[in-house]
Order: sequence, then C-alpha cells, then structure tokens
Amino acid sequence: MKKIVIIGGGLAGLEVAKKLSGNESFEVILIDKNNYNFFPPLLYQVSTAFIEASNISYPFRRLFQKHKNVNFFMGDFVRLISEQNIVETDAGHVSYDYLILAMGTETNFFGNQNIARNALPMKTIDDAINLLNHILLCLEEASRTQTLLGKEKLVNVVIAGGGPTGVELAGMLGEMRKYIGPKEYKAYDQVLGNVYLVNSGPTLLVPMSRKAQQDAFKVLTGLGIKILLNTLVKDYVNDMVLLSNGESIPAKTLIWASGVMARPVSGLSKESVGPAGRIIVDEINLVKGYDNIFAIGDQCIQFSDNNYPKGHPQLAQVAMQQGRLVGKNLIRKERNKWAKPFTYQNKGSMAIISKHKAVVDLPFGSFKGFIAWLLNCSFQIGDLFPAIFFCSLKRYYQESFNKVDQFIEKELADSLVATLETGKSHHIFDPEINSLRAVQMYCWQIRLAISDTTISEIDRPELCGQLRKFFVSGIATSKAVA
Ligand SMILES: Cc1cc2nc3c(=O)[nH]c(=O)nc-3n(C[C@H](O)[C@H](O)[C@H](O)COP(=O)(O)OP(=O)(O)OC[C@H]3O[C@@H](n4cnc5c(N)ncnc54)[C@H](O)[C@@H]3O)c2cc1C
Repeated sequence: MKKIVIIGGGLAGLEVAKKLSGNESFEVILIDKNNYNFFPPLLYQVSTAFIEASNISYPFRRLFQKHKNVNFFMGDFVRLISEQNIVETDAGHVSYDYLILAMGTETNFFGNQNIARNALPMKTIDDAINLLNHILLCLEEASRTQTLLGKEKLVNVVIAGGGPTGVELAGMLGEMRKYIGPKEYKAYDQVLGNVYLVNSGPTLLVPMSRKAQQDAFKVLTGLGIKILLNTLVKDYVNDMVLLSNGESIPAKTLIWASGVMARPVSGLSKESVGPAGRIIVDEINLVKGYDNIFAIGDQCIQFSDNNYPKGHPQLAQVAMQQGRLVGKNLIRKERNKWAKPFTYQNKGSMAIISKHKAVVDLPFGSFKGFIAWLLNCSFQIGDLFPAIFFCSLKRYYQESFNKVDQFIEKELADSLVATLETGKSHHIFDPEINSLRAVQMYCWQIRLAISDTTISEIDRPELCGQLRKFFVSGIATSKAVA
C-alpha cells in the first residue's frame, strides 16, 4: 500500500483525495491548516453578506467519513525534508511515499508594508468575514459621525485590482450601495460614499474577451462604480489611498485584490521554483528534480501544454483537472501503465458583475446579462462545484428560477399583447409560445426538485442534464424572442 500525502485540501488537492478514496492500494493523508474545504470564487458573496460562509465550505472529515483509506490531518506546513520523505507541520511530522503539494497562493503586497498592514485581502473565509464586519462597522460609525471628511472616509471603498475578484466585489458593493445602504442606513449619503475600482492596466478582466471586458465596464459604471484604469495604488497612509496619478482617496477600506504569489515551500530546491514563486512541474505535474513529489493547481507552473507555453492561468478548472489527472496517474502507475500528460480543457471563463448579471466567455462565444449569470451558476454546479455545495446553493438557484419565471411570464404577456395588436390569431401551438412554456416547465420542475429533495435523494447527473437542456433552450428562446 502506497502512502500518499496531500498538503492543501483546496480545489486541486481535494480532487486527488477524491480520486484515490476507496482504492485499497493507497493510504491517503490530507493535510490542511483548516479543517474545511471552501470554494474561493464565491468569497466575494460572503464578504458582501449575499451568502453565508457555511454555504461555500464543508468539513474534510465529513467529506471522507465513508472512506477508510482517506485520513485528515490538521496542520500548518512548515518544511519539507525530501531526503527522508517527510513533511514537517506545526502539529507533527508525516512521512510519505508520494507527496502532492497543493497549497495554492497567498496575497502579494509587492513589498509595500503600509498596504500589507492596513489593506484587506480576499483569499480566505476569514478574510471575507473580516471584510464584511469591517464594512458594516464603518457604516455604523458613519451614521454617528458628524464631519463630512470623517463620513466620507468611512463610506468610501477602494478596490485595488480589476481582475475577476475586484470586478465581482465592485459589482456586489455597487448593489449594496445602491439598494441596501440607503434603506438600512437612513443617514447614509449616496453622493458621499463611492466605490472605486483601481486597475493598473488599460482594461478590466484581462484574461477575458474584449466584449466581456466592455460589458463588465458598462454594467459597473451603470451601478455607479468609479473605475480608474492605467492607475496604480502606490501607498496607503492615514486612511488615504495614494494613486500613481498623484490623486488620493480618503477611505478606511482598501481591498487588495491585486496580486498573488505561490505559497513558498521551505526545503524545496531553488531550481524548482519559477515565476511568482510557482513550482516548476513537468507534463505529469512531477516537480522538477524530484521523482516522488508532485505540485498541482495555483502553486505550480507547467510549460509543457502546447496551448499554454507560458503556463496555465491560475483558475479553478486548471486546479481541479490537474488534481484529477494526478490521482488517475497514481492509479495507472500502480497498474504499471504509463502516466498521461496534462492538457487543459478550457470550458470558458466567467465573472459575476452584479446580483443577477455576469459575463461569460465560452469556447463558442460570449454572453452577458442574466442568461450569463444563470450559465455561471450552471457551470459552478455542474462542473466546478463538488456535490456538497449543492444543498447550500438551493437558495441561490431558487432565486434565479423565480427570476426566469417572471421573465417568461412577461415575455408571454408581451407576445400575447403583440399578437392581439397585430390582429393575428393567437394559436396554442405557436412555436414561440411553446418554447417559452417549455422553458417555464423546466424551470418549475427543477425548482421543485431543488426545494423538495434532500441532497442524498438528488440525482445529480440527471438534474445537471436537465439544467443544461434548460439553459440551451432558454438561450435559443431568448434569441428567438429578441
Ligand atoms: C477571491 C477569489 C476569487 C476567485 N474567482 C475565481 C473564478 O471566478 N474562477 C476561477 O476559475 N478561479 C477563481 N479563483 C481562483 C481559484 O480559486 C483557484 O485557481 C483555485 O482555488 C486553486 O486551487 P488550489 O487547490 O491550487 O488552491 P486553493 O483552492 O487555494 O487551496 C489551497 C489549500 O491549501 C491550504 N493551505 C494553504 N497553506 C497551507 C499550509 N501552510 N499548510 C496547510 N495547508 C495550507 C488552504 O487552506 C487551502 O485549503 C478565485 C480565487 C480567489 C481567491
């Protein structure tokens, strides 16, 4: 029996453990500094109180309670002693036959101590809850503060970084500012409180298509977000955010969504560390210079994929696909089969830019608006999300289905009015009306399935199939109607 030690039970590490669970050829020890797995892409919703932290996290022990060959070890990685096949954690030493490094990244403040001390990062559940509490306390204090400058500092929010995290946060904060702030904080002054999104480059959402970038810009400016492009946050002193264009913004809240670097692994040879601290791996994710240590996900960089000669983007799908393949390859190795090289299957990228709007780039085109937002939910449930998050997202989905329902009812009513106005007879077999009704029926069925079923009863593949069908017919219908 081979002993596999995985350090980091994030999106990548968890996939390896899942792949090897129940396989008696392996004893798996999953080490993590937290006792739960969580889903980073939805952290921004926790930090803006749209969902609870428990909706995006799940305990490791419960995840693997049925699999005797997977054990959890809570500990913070300290160093690697590769000559002895041992890892040291703050809770003790663990030996291994194969080691898998999957500790992801940490926030990069680019050496600025003022920013590191006073800005708020967005990497962990603790960061998200901390940010939420910070914003709420600032709003409370603002409602008691009399001076204009004092108030302004408390209600202004500056986000550094116009990537997906910065854009998604800005969208949600824009919604809060527009709809929740004035209702719940009666003295809240919308003119005074601004959300600034500061980006060093000329466009938001750099990895996405030009169209998605423009759509995101439009939606955010529509929500009142002040976007500053080609601008750097240089420093943060006495609650003043100092910008590269010479201006400064008074703000007690600076959110740092600007850069990450791979978590360092003490004890690993210097030759195996590449750009931004990422560990250099070969085509099967073996760390350069080692034959029993793998690195996967955000923590590694791989130059062997022909489509990504400069390395893959640090995304959830890359991490999960690498984790799955390393798990499979370990099994293949046990069966004396050759290991398969990694090639990234890009299923598209998405960013949610407000409560019900998103931009989605798919291999066959891009979407925006509400349909894109629904697609995003579908991808996260169907492909990105482990089944455990399904129940937690019930509410999220129910809300979206209610909205689809309303949309369809309105379309049906409009179409009826149009047929009456044009004097054409309204036929029950009208294909347009029928496709709308079909979408509505799917919507009802799925909503019922979600609200009336417990997780163990949900037939996930069938439901996901239904969802896909529903979205495809939804898109076709909205195109037909438009
Ligand atoms: C706010 C935010 C939003 C994002 N949005 C998107 C998105 O919309 N789409 C997308 O594709 N990607 C998104 N990403 C990126 C995506 O989350 C990562 O690519 C993915 O999580 C990488 O998986 P990983 O397993 O390599 O690392 P992680 O998922 O970060 O997991 C690392 C694990 O290692 C553990 N760990 C860390 N240090 C130690 C230590 N010293 N000892 C023990 N354990 C340790 C952590 O607790 C964690 O469980 C987002 C990331 C963030 C932070």
